[in-house]
Amino acid sequence: MDPKYIRNFAIIAHIDHGKSTLSDRLLELTGSLTHREMQAQVLDAMDLERERGITIKAHSVRMMYKAKDGITYQLNLIDTPGHVDFSYEVSRSLASCEGALLVVDATQGVEAQTLANAYLAISNGLEILPVINKIDLPSADIERTKEMIENTVGLPADDAIAVSAKTGLNVEEILEAIVTKLPSPKGDASAPLQALIFDSWFDAYRGVIVLARVINGRLRTGQKIKLMSNGKVFDIESMGVLTPKPVEIAELSAGEVGFFVATIKNVVDSKVGDTITDPAEPATEMLPGFEDIKSMVFAGLYTIESHEHGALRDALEKLKLNDASFSFEPESSVALGFGFRCGFLGLLHMEIIQERLEREFNLDLITTAPGVKYRITLTGGEVVEVENPSRWPDPTNIAQIEEPVIIAKILTNEEYVGGILKLVEDKRGKQQNFEYVSSNRVLLTYQLPLNEIVLDFYDRLKSVSRGYASLDYALAGMWVSPMVKMDILIGGDPVDALSVIVHRDFAFERGKSLVHKMRELIPRQMFEVALQAAIGAKIIARETVSAIRKDVIAKCYGGDISRKKKLLNKQKEGKKRMKRIGKVDIPQEAFLAVLKVG
Ligand code: GDP
Ligand code: MG
Repeated sequence: MDPKYIRNFAIIAHIDHGKSTLSDRLLELTGSLTHREMQAQVLDAMDLERERGITIKAHSVRMMYKAKDGITYQLNLIDTPGHVDFSYEVSRSLASCEGALLVVDATQGVEAQTLANAYLAISNGLEILPVINKIDLPSADIERTKEMIENTVGLPADDAIAVSAKTGLNVEEILEAIVTKLPSPKGDASAPLQALIFDSWFDAYRGVIVLARVINGRLRTGQKIKLMSNGKVFDIESMGVLTPKPVEIAELSAGEVGFFVATIKNVVDSKVGDTITDPAEPATEMLPGFEDIKSMVFAGLYTIESHEHGALRDALEKLKLNDASFSFEPESSVALGFGFRCGFLGLLHMEIIQERLEREFNLDLITTAPGVKYRITLTGGEVVEVENPSRWPDPTNIAQIEEPVIIAKILTNEEYVGGILKLVEDKRGKQQNFEYVSSNRVLLTYQLPLNEIVLDFYDRLKSVSRGYASLDYALAGMWVSPMVKMDILIGGDPVDALSVIVHRDFAFERGKSLVHKMRELIPRQMFEVALQAAIGAKIIARETVSAIRKDVIAKCYGGDISRKKKLLNKQKEGKKRMKRIGKVDIPQEAFLAVLKVG
């Protein structure tokens, strides 16, 4: 199609402001889906996404829209995730668009991710159309939302389109604005092929599927392609577009977005950000790729049954194909055996990977407490990076420890500022800025150690603000901190998988509440179990799990049979997520107890 009649756009928003609902409505209005085919939130296709109500992967859908000028346009919609952990996916999507709809909930106004995503779009040179959503709700305040868009994002909002994605009110206006206000792609269909891989995933039936945006030239079924990063050549077997049903097509030309299946067997070969060209008439230059994304949060993953270790490796390899932001390498633990050290973008990302491993691959896992990567200068001058507490150097060999620091932007209502300031101070934060963005909305900018965010920052922020605070953060270098390794001893023996890195000044407090929490989580055994926290040889806290009373079981025999069954079933359930260490059964929750004691 002539690029003049193509529009590629993303929808960006803070979570829950209505991206997915609006996408569905656009599909419906363009007749891409009949009402009958419409399932609630078709774009959130994965079960897990639907249940959690979040969009994990960006999707691309082609719609045909007959505009008021009588011309039929091809609109390619890229739905993007809104959570802070997935800003990498947002930037991937933005690189294949010329414009973006910035959706803002009229009852909430601008939130932290509205701001972060809008800045990303602006810095990618995208044209932005502000859309004010949820105007069917009585508490919607269109004027105030416009004012906030102008004051915080810095975009003119006079022409913002006020809609209800739920009822469909004014949504048609968005389609007209996409056609009249967003630029068409620039590209030359007769130039040598350059296409950008912006997503790829493994499909159990079809193998590796690649989503690409053709920038210049044409991509055809049956042709050979060359990946410019490694020079490898493959044959395109089939191509298609998502409408959102997959529809086979023969060609994608400059400006268009679609997927293809090629003879790519090795998952590592379909690297997101790579440029595809035609080996017969190759382009001379690669397209500007994506930043190599770095994992920020690390944790150990182990199977409860050691014979499932190979299955875990296979599953991790498959997930890795869908998700370049996730990394893993083998590690072993004295307590847990063979497992993997995995790197994630954040805690939500980690939870999602763990849940997918359990659901889609049927694995029972133990996850160790998440941590960050420290840069340690040894007394000999050598610098090492450590993300696994069990590799922490001997303190007498450490000259300096640096920890990763983030810049956090928190948007909240005035009345919660007091509680939030106390929280960020508790978390070793340093204030950078304090700014009123409207009469009662405050934007706080803080430097905070990532280590503290990883522990329990989200939950604490949510509770001190009753949910009326939003957070966005970006890595902002390292600072020097006196961190120490805290070991946990069970029955007198240190359990390597339970060690955590903490700030020296907080070690005593943390140790005390950690063993206290673990005492609640570890079920009673037939014998007494001592729980201790230690720094080096020094014990800093101790609790005891007392032995089980014999009459607990005895009582059941006399009692009602269904109650006994229930008790036994419950024990079985619990067993599933227990790991026996030495003689003691430790539940999964105990490995993550440190998350609950910040
Ligand atoms: P996303 O996280 O940005 O994709 O947001 P969703 O599309 O999943 O919407 C979040 C919630 O807001 C869902 O419960 C939607 O039903 C609801 N919602 C979305 N748009 C509207 C709207 O225009 N009006 C009302 N009342 N609710 C809406
Ligand atoms: Mg969504």
